[in-house]
Amino acid sequence: MTMADLSIIVPVKDEEEAIGPFLARVVPLLESFDDPVAQSFEILFVDDGSSDTTLEVIRKANAADRRIRGISLSRNFGKEAALSAGIDAADGKAVVPMDVDLQDPPEALREMVAKWRDGYDVVYGVRDNRETDTLPKRLTADLYYRAHNWLSDDKIPEHAGDFRLLDRRVVDVIRQMPERNRFMKGLFAWAGFRQAAVSYHREERKVGTTKYNYWKLWRLAVDGITSASTVPLRVWSYLGAFVALGALGYAIYIIIVALTSGINVPGYASLMVAVLFLGGLQLLSLGVLGEYIGRILIEAKGRPLYVIRERIGEG
Ligand code: UDP
Ligand code: MG
Repeated sequence: MTMADLSIIVPVKDEEEAIGPFLARVVPLLESFDDPVAQSFEILFVDDGSSDTTLEVIRKANAADRRIRGISLSRNFGKEAALSAGIDAADGKAVVPMDVDLQDPPEALREMVAKWRDGYDVVYGVRDNRETDTLPKRLTADLYYRAHNWLSDDKIPEHAGDFRLLDRRVVDVIRQMPERNRFMKGLFAWAGFRQAAVSYHREERKVGTTKYNYWKLWRLAVDGITSASTVPLRVWSYLGAFVALGALGYAIYIIIVALTSGINVPGYASLMVAVLFLGGLQLLSLGVLGEYIGRILIEAKGRPLYVIRERIGEG
């Protein structure tokens, strides 16, 4: 039994039509590389609780080519957990998570491997275009990267997807991280090491459909920020101090007015504004607290990140 040198990890959820074209493009490509690391590759599919025949497709692929393996999770755990499962199971000296939809061109692997040979531990792909995304998605992505990097000390590179090459050393660091919240980009950023970028052109998804809607993206964004920064928790004390100072000033003003020109009864509007504004602010800050406490609960339970039902092929 030989261990692979290059592990390609592919999380798949309901992707029966996408796996065939993916293999047809990636396998010949890797075989064409001169680099010995690519000569010994494995492609590891992580079936993330698919409800179609994805698992069957992986089984057939494994029967035809032993370099293709699979892990099947017991249910849908989400892409980040599926990626963790893949990273835990990969043997390679270099590990590359990739989407099955071929939006990230596998041809970029050649340059990634070359950069890795030059001594970089993380080589991440950066999209030189986002036209394939809709305008709202581009804007929200932009906003997210900005908010994340402003709030957190671990900067994530903008427009870098999950498509990247990781040296074994980095993989071992990621595997040691105990947290349940697997916001992968954040974990990679935290790990550090020598990082280099490779730019590529992102293509349209050709088969199947995107598994992400705006609500899922929003949850991912909240996961990312809450796992990387405590600024949202701490900002309220400053905001509170600021509002309290304002209130003090206003109180002094009211007292002076009352003393100089008698009691001034009207004030319904300002009262309503103050009550509603502060009420809203308090609910908002409670909500932020809730986001963090909920995550503390999840971490405290310490459940496994994913459950493997079956392994197809062995490495
Ligand atoms: N995926 C997964 N579990 C999920 C959702 C998605 O494993 O719960 C996989 C999916 O099969 C694909 C990759 O994650 O290989 C990226 O998904 P998609 O292309 O839908 O995301 P997008 O490119 O639209 O961000
Ligand atoms: Mg995609």
